[in-house]
Amino acid sequence: TEQTFAEIKRIDPEIDAFLTLNEDGAKQAAAAQDVAGIAADKPFAGVPVGIKDNIVTKGLKTTAASKILGNFVPIYDATVVEKLQAAGAIIAGKLNLDEFAMGSSTENSAFKTTKNAWDHTKVPGGSSGGSAAAVASGQLPMALGTDTGGSIRQPAAFNGIVGLKPTYGRVSRWGVIAFASSLDVVGSLTRTVRDAALTLNVIAGHDDKDATTADLDVPDYTAKLGQSIRGMKIALPEEYLGEGVDAAVADQVKKAAEQFRALGATVDTVSLPHTKYAVPAYYIIASSEASSNLQRFDGIRYGFRAKDVKNLDDVYVRSRSEGFGREVKRRIMLGTFSLSAGFYDAYFKKAAQVRTLISRDFDKVFEDYDFIIGPTTPTTAFKIGSKVTDPLTMYMNDILTIPVNLAGLPALSIPAGFVDGMPVGLQLIGKQFDEQTLLQAADAFE
Ligand code: GLN
Repeated sequence: TEQTFAEIKRIDPEIDAFLTLNEDGAKQAAAAQDVAGIAADKPFAGVPVGIKDNIVTKGLKTTAASKILGNFVPIYDATVVEKLQAAGAIIAGKLNLDEFAMGSSTENSAFKTTKNAWDHTKVPGGSSGGSAAAVASGQLPMALGTDTGGSIRQPAAFNGIVGLKPTYGRVSRWGVIAFASSLDVVGSLTRTVRDAALTLNVIAGHDDKDATTADLDVPDYTAKLGQSIRGMKIALPEEYLGEGVDAAVADQVKKAAEQFRALGATVDTVSLPHTKYAVPAYYIIASSEASSNLQRFDGIRYGFRAKDVKNLDDVYVRSRSEGFGREVKRRIMLGTFSLSAGFYDAYFKKAAQVRTLISRDFDKVFEDYDFIIGPTTPTTAFKIGSKVTDPLTMYMNDILTIPVNLAGLPALSIPAGFVDGMPVGLQLIGKQFDEQTLLQAADAFE
């Protein structure tokens, strides 16, 4: 643990991944571990881990990278945090993100801009940019992230590491500060596929406190690592190599397809025809849910309250106006509009229908294939500042990750070569609750 903090202090001033360090808490937790008694039931004994700062940690500041929660110290642990600690993990600290996980570059954090581990002039991706950069820069072996529209996979791709977004309902969201409740999933950022499997072993499972968690057994996700993928059928959607996808990134994916063929799998081109509607549908659904979830931040119950207020309305309006950043306000306005009486049918209902069509596209492909591959992102990491004034271009960065959230599927991003010195992410998308096949295939590829 001491070595971990020495490394964090050496490396993080250049990366800015951490919002809060838990140095005293971590050292106490480590000292309290009975080293002699460490057994197989503590697979993370002594292992330092980082937690995205939209996941609550008892007694440890949790801000969601928002001024409105700037001084918020939770009174309980999220289920995933509890499970990691029960497995022996040591919480090293809380990691930067886009405010309330809304963004693709971590530039929407109210507190700091995290840098890409490979090139400090570039973004680490988002919204789990702090988690990805901390792992990729060698500060931690594992950090938790959340993925609503790509926020684990896209930063994993930009930093050349492994990002696992489990099936919706596989991992408890209890204690995760809600963004879009029908899309949010907790997962891991790690340097290896095996570490992703080991993490899922610990965090997956039914939770009485989250009614959307599935009551299914948790298999040993390491069980199929090392096994051959000979005979597996892989689909490569033509839309995932189409317009907007950088040609050099597409080339890396084609090379990956060849590598899978060399491992004995078949790779065929398929179509997911509704892909182009995923981003607009997502921004209506996610913003609508966010506008509702964020109503609780009213200046009364949590965190920031505006000064010198005149009356109760003034408390609400001024606390929210001063506490939320630009992107969060943009989403609240978009979501409130989409849900309003006059526009619900035209926007929210339509988006929900499109969501069903996107799910069916996937179902159809999975009738014949074991999993799907494609790029995780259309480009490699971009320059800090280059997209902040253009939200639509920023939104389009998620075109290849968002459909997966709308359908609730599991997906992994793994490193697949470089373009101009920057890592490329290969995305593997699986059937619901079939993380095991994805991990097996990713491990064979690795
Ligand atoms: N970039 C997407 C957004 O801004 C996805 C974010 C996420 O997955 N949390 O909504």
